[in-house]
Formats: sequence, structure tokens, C-alpha cells
Amino acid sequence: MEAMDAQAMRRHNVALVMELIARDAPVSRVELARRTGLTKATVSSLVAELTGAELVRDLGPEPGRAPGRPAGRLVLDPYGPVALGLQFGSGHIAGVILDLSGRPLARRLRRFDVAAGGAPDGVRAARPVLRQLFDEATTAGRLVAGVGVAVGGTVSHGLVSALPLGWHGVDLRGLVAAELRALDLHGLDVLVAGEVACAALAEYQAGAARDWLYLGGEEVIGLAPLNPAASLAGDLGHVPVRRRGEPCPCGGRGCLDRYAGRPAMAAAAGLADAGVTRLLAGEEPLAVRVREQDPGALRALHRASEALADALIGVRALLAPETIVLGGRLAGLGEAFRHAVVGRLGSGLTVRLSRLGPDAAVRGAAGRVIARVVADPLAWIEG
Ligand SMILES: [Zn+2]
Repeated sequence: MEAMDAQAMRRHNVALVMELIARDAPVSRVELARRTGLTKATVSSLVAELTGAELVRDLGPEPGRAPGRPAGRLVLDPYGPVALGLQFGSGHIAGVILDLSGRPLARRLRRFDVAAGGAPDGVRAARPVLRQLFDEATTAGRLVAGVGVAVGGTVSHGLVSALPLGWHGVDLRGLVAAELRALDLHGLDVLVAGEVACAALAEYQAGAARDWLYLGGEEVIGLAPLNPAASLAGDLGHVPVRRRGEPCPCGGRGCLDRYAGRPAMAAAAGLADAGVTRLLAGEEPLAVRVREQDPGALRALHRASEALADALIGVRALLAPETIVLGGRLAGLGEAFRHAVVGRLGSGLTVRLSRLGPDAAVRGAAGRVIARVVADPLAWIEG
């Protein structure tokens, strides 16, 4: 075998082992050898490389295990490098530090009217959040593997368009990288994605199946596969569901967002306050009214559920998903909303409510950094 081939093979195998540990932790070397088909000696050597770089930790034999042949339990190293997540919402900037196992070590939330100014102002407002997160990471003696950024919009050719923020064709990656340089932080990866794609990844990393679809969002309504290898994320909120329906700020007509979006649902329920993201407010006014069985709120819920189910007709025809996870703000509407959507959709499709909270997108943003380290650990080790 050529030297290059051996190197490429090692890169592949170390990623394979890392991925299995990420997915199935805690797991033993014997188990890894069985699942990968590699020899135990090869697995031990790959694991040694990962533990040496503090990407994987051996918890040792299970307490109480009979002596003899102790089986180490391998996990992603909770004391290894960390990932930073940042999220831009219309009224806030959220930040989080995750360890490799996905556990939050610190959170920051800054109220800021991101939608009021342009993108440069909004991103500059993230500087104190970034500084605090980096200070926390440094104080804890952690290396930062990168910064993931979630935004309530879509990313196309590296440029962000976010209707709730009034952003069009924004080089968000470049703006965040400039903020990092202003903080004297150099050479860090910045990964930008829509909040829906990020929340879908958070769902996957929390244990949901790879072939499920995620539907939801806090600021927008989007659709994304849970599979971290897929980069597709659809802006379902601006799929037309009503012919000659209400005009939409996107330029379209009868968009789903006009029936199931936060302001539209609040207006339909007769609420003066449309509410803000649950990160700031906890529960939305509409969700509270739904629980109280307020007739106006229930009408708005049913109108939204019908529009959403209608938008899913095309999705079903195109992607034939078996299971959809309803997340974000729509999950906050609870079992009543899920039930209404299922009732309209009919059988053949399972709809589940996400168990993640309103921080799913910011955690998923940091999760993308972790996913990148897991997918190519040698790049981190060699970098
Ligand atoms: Zn629209």
C-alpha cells in the first residue's frame, strides 16, 4: 500500500471510531473492533491517538465490575476542546459553550433589537457575548474548536437572508470573523447555518434518528433532515398554501408563514402581543391561551395546523418521510397542535414533538462545530 493510501485509511478509520464513540458512548474497544471490523490492536492505536488529543476519554471499567478483564468505557472527552454557539434572533443574541458530549458549560443571552439596525450593527452587538464565552472557556483551560452561528433565515452560497431580521445577502461568516479578530482571536473556524438546520442537528445529536425530518424554528418555519451529512434546509414558511391568500413580505402570496407564523397566529387569536422567542419570554402568550382552551387561540391553532398540513402534502410526495419531529415554537404549542396537524394529514406519517427547549438552535450551532471535529478528528489534531 502506498504511504498516502495508508494515511488516508488512517484518517478514515480514526473518524469511524470517533463517530461510533460519539453515537454509542460509553463503548468499549472490543465493541468498537466488532462494529468496525478492525483488529483490536488497530482500534487501540486509533483510540490512543484520540485520547492523547483529549478528544476521547476512557472512563475505566464500570464500577462494581468483577476483576479480570476490565473493559474501558470510551466517551467523547468532556474535558477536551469546546465549541461555541451563537444565535441571532430578532430580539436577542444567544451564546453557549458546549463540551464535546454536547453538555452546555455556559450560556449568555443579550437582549438586542437585531432587526432594528443593519447586519453590521447586529453582529457588533454580539462582541460582548463572544468575549464572555471566550473568557469562560479560557478560565476553564479549554481550547475552542470553533464558533457555530445560527440565524433565523437561510444561507445560500455563503450569504444569509433572514426576513425576520431584515437581512439580505449578508456575509455573516465574514462579519463574525471580523468580531473575533477584534477580540484578538485568530484562526478559528466560523460555521454559519440557518436556525432550522442547527435545531435539526441538535435533535440528531440528542439521539433522534438520522432519517427523520425536522420541522419548526423559532423565528421562521423551516424543514431540514436530521442527517448531519445533509445540507438541505427548506424555507417551508414561504411555501404558498392558499391560492390568492394574504400577501407576504417575501413578495409571495398565501405563504404558510401568513397562517402559522408567530405574528399571524397571534393576530388570528386576537392577541395584541405576538410574543417573542421563548428564549426571552419563556412561554408564548398564544401557547398559554391554547392551554386555557381559549376559543380564539384554538381557532388560530387549527387554522395554522391546516395550513401546515397542506404545506406538508408536497413534502410527503417529494421526500416520503416516516417521521417528522415538530420543533421550535410549534412544539411549544404542545400536543393540541400536533394532534391537529396529524388529524389533517391522515395516517402514514408519524409526527413527534421535540423534547428540546428554545435553545435547540444555539446548541445546534455549536453542535455543528462538534460534528466537524467528529467527522475529521485528524484535522483538529493536526491543526
Ligand atoms: Zn412569504
